[in-house]
Amino acid sequence: MPLARPVVLGNWKMNGLKADALALVGRLAARAAHPSGTLGVFPPATLVGPVAQRLSASRILVGGQDCHEAESGAFTGSISAAMLADVGAKAVIVGHSERRHGLGEDDALVKAKAEAALAQGLLVVLCIGETEGEYLAGERDAVLTRQLDGSLPDGGTAENLVVAYEPVWAIGTGRTPSQEEIKETHTLLRALLVERVAGGADVALLYGGSVKAENAADIMAMADVDGALVGGASLDADSFWSIYTAGGGA
Ligand code: PEP
Repeated sequence: MPLARPVVLGNWKMNGLKADALALVGRLAARAAHPSGTLGVFPPATLVGPVAQRLSASRILVGGQDCHEAESGAFTGSISAAMLADVGAKAVIVGHSERRHGLGEDDALVKAKAEAALAQGLLVVLCIGETEGEYLAGERDAVLTRQLDGSLPDGGTAENLVVAYEPVWAIGTGRTPSQEEIKETHTLLRALLVERVAGGADVALLYGGSVKAENAADIMAMADVDGALVGGASLDADSFWSIYTAGGGA
C-alpha cells in the first residue's frame, strides 16, 4: 500500500541530545501515537535506537539521516542500513543536499545507498534539488531530471520510496519557491516518476525547504505535494505537529 498522506518527515540534522529528543518524541506520541498520515522523525544516528525504542508502541516512523552503501566493513565512522534497521529504524534519508554538496556525494553513490537501504527493508527518502546558481541559470528542471535519473534506486515502489524536492537555496534560509514554481517542479517530478518507477503515480512526493506552520497548509494543498520534509521546524514538537495537521494529518 502507498504511504498514508500527508507524509511529514522531520530531519533533525546534527541536533539533539538524548533527554531532549525523548521529550520531543514523547510530546509527539502524546498527540497521536497512531497518526492518520505518515509522521516520521530522523534523529542523529546516536539517537535512532533510543527514539525508536521510545516510539515502539506508536506508528510514528523513525529513520536515519544517511547510510553507507556497504553492509559492513572498514569504513570508519560510517553506519550501514543494516545497523539502522537493527536498532529499529524503518527509513533512511539519502542524497540530502548537505551531503551532496557539503560532502561531495554524487548521484551514483546516492543510488547505491538507496539500494542498500531497500535491501534492508528500509523506506528510502531520496532528496534532490537545485542550487541557487542552477536555479538562477534556468537549469532547475535539467538538474532535477539528472539527479532523479542518476539516484533513483532499482526496485523503488510507492511502498518503499519517497522523493523529496528540496531546493538547496530554500533549506534553512526562510526562502521558498513561489506556489507556481513548486507546482511546476512537482508536475515534472510526478511525470518522471510515472515513467521510471513501478506505481510512480503513488510515490509520495514531498516539498522541503523552510516549511513552517505558517506556509505548510498552502504548500501541502497543492496537487502532487504529498507532504513535507521539515528541518528546523521539526525540532519543536508543537511546530512540527502544526505542520503535520496543516497538511491534513490527525
Ligand atoms: C532540510 O534540511 O531537509 C530542510 C528542509 O531544512 P529546513 O526545513 O530547515 O529548511
